[in-house]
Amino acid sequence: MRYSLFLYPHVTAESRIIKSELIDTLAELDFLQRSESSQQLSGGPQLMDFITFLGCSPALESAEIRSVILLHQFDQINALGGEAIDAIRYPGCKHLLRNSADLISDYPALTLWICPECGQQGAVEDINWRKSAGFSTLFIEISPIFPKEAIPSDRLLSVLNETTQSSWHWFYSKSSVRLDT
Ligand SMILES: [Zn+2]
Repeated sequence: MRYSLFLYPHVTAESRIIKSELIDTLAELDFLQRSESSQQLSGGPQLMDFITFLGCSPALESAEIRSVILLHQFDQINALGGEAIDAIRYPGCKHLLRNSADLISDYPALTLWICPECGQQGAVEDINWRKSAGFSTLFIEISPIFPKEAIPSDRLLSVLNETTQSSWHWFYSKSSVRLDT
């Protein structure tokens, strides 16, 4: 299974997230390359300078695999991810959450979780997703990236924070990018 790194801003009423402005800024930094599509873009020559590798992702670092950058934008706050690497537990009762991907794909139509073992319930956003899901109106997906081996650099996060006046976070989940391999 291929995984991606997803970056997303914490969206508030004051947020000013303009996708074209974000693409312009990231293209100037050679983080990504513009393309005909405003949704699927290619990684730029400097992309790997914005990602810190903790383990070895040799194929990606030596550019043997072309990295793809996908922008997901929504009119209202949506959820992406849910394919957790770590065990996810319900807040409070700590029972194991077994349907994490379903809970994320049903969002925002369903925003509540109900623990099947004890009947407790709460908001899906309040679950500790352990960097496996995020809630926002815009997501930058970088693929392929191995979970936990690559983290966004402080420089990348400050560029994103400054461009959008929002604080950015990240998670890892199953890739939604189709790559020809
Ligand atoms: Zn429970």
